[in-house]
Amino acid sequence: MTVAPAFDPRTTQRATVSARGADRWAAGHPWIYRSDLIDPPAAPAGAITVVDRASRPLGVALYSPASEIALRLLDRDHTARLDAAWWHNRIAQALARRATLASETNAYRVVHGEADGLPSLTCDRYDRWLVVQLLSAGLEHFRAPIVQALVALLAPDGILARNDTAVRTREGLTRETVALHGQVPREIEVVEHGVRYLAAPWDGQKTGAFLDQRENRVLAGSIARGRALDCFAYHGSFALHLSRGASEVTALDSSAPALARARENAARNGFTNIHTVEADAFEFLRAEERAGARYETIVLDPPAFAKTRNSLDGAIRGYKEINLRAMRLLSPGGMLFTASCSFHLSLPHFRDMLRDAAADSGRRIAVRQLRGQPLDHPEVLTIPESGYIKGALLEALD
Ligand code: SAH
Repeated sequence: MTVAPAFDPRTTQRATVSARGADRWAAGHPWIYRSDLIDPPAAPAGAITVVDRASRPLGVALYSPASEIALRLLDRDHTARLDAAWWHNRIAQALARRATLASETNAYRVVHGEADGLPSLTCDRYDRWLVVQLLSAGLEHFRAPIVQALVALLAPDGILARNDTAVRTREGLTRETVALHGQVPREIEVVEHGVRYLAAPWDGQKTGAFLDQRENRVLAGSIARGRALDCFAYHGSFALHLSRGASEVTALDSSAPALARARENAARNGFTNIHTVEADAFEFLRAEERAGARYETIVLDPPAFAKTRNSLDGAIRGYKEINLRAMRLLSPGGMLFTASCSFHLSLPHFRDMLRDAAADSGRRIAVRQLRGQPLDHPEVLTIPESGYIKGALLEALD
């Protein structure tokens, strides 16, 4: 089923923005807040020409009447026609940036929203299928040319919209999971650097898998040995990479369905040294420490503990606790790959938290690598919201 509402590529309506709004664009950030609109236009959601107080055109933007983020820059050329060819070109540019990934994996992010000049759009590829998220009212207006461009560029067997996230509510949009083109299976087998796993596009976390840790999984796999622990394993993506170098791997998560898929994923690869544990990671790590357990390799890839700025202090305590316990569980020379995907936890916070954890652990811990985001999730320096992953590979020196 292809949904093809009529869309208007012209941007006849105008929005006037304050100097502060104009300055945001000048500084490389694509958002202008509602508070920086002068006389909010009576235009519907879609695209709009943006001018400053002197009526000088600044560009064209997506317009979301109900959202705090009223305008999202699309093109600094205010004469741009946002027709099918415009969307095709922008998505083609995003795709070209990822060309080198195709030899390593068939699961990657094709469009990372604002960072790819396509604000509020994400598109992930899982083999012959695509999962998109249209996350603003303005963008919804362009659903048809976006689907058309994706079909033309990637010829997918199906496109699923995972439009079930809370930000849609703030945009005044309904939440839905719906096929926009062709058929999309419940599970899709993908390959990631030689490892196979099942993604769950309809009801898995995010769009079906955590594509943003792909290269970090390869890194963890490259140093894995001895007894290994994959904490917050989800469907075992780190565990699968650890399995090759480790003698045995414990994949721990609190979600039984995710672990069922982890076992299925291990079987698909013929890996027999992975076992799953359904438990709370905090309790498990505490119990392992009491029992005097030791691991040569540990991965900590928790969910975002800091969902808001206000929850940062509590989140840091949580991160510190799991990291300090993992450090204590390392054998001498053991390696810990640890990550945070909280946008609100900055890189300096992350480093300070790890230093405090190391201090309390009583171990001498060295930083071997600091990791950021992969190629398909570009972090643009002037758009802080495009970056959220921090990672560190640590070694217990004694
Ligand atoms: N490492 C995974 C992604 C992990 S996402 C990958 O690379 O694919 C975070 C996971 O933590 C989720 O699967 C969630 O079920 C799990 N989780 C959340 N809170 C937990 C807790 N307290 N104890 C154990 N697992 C938890």
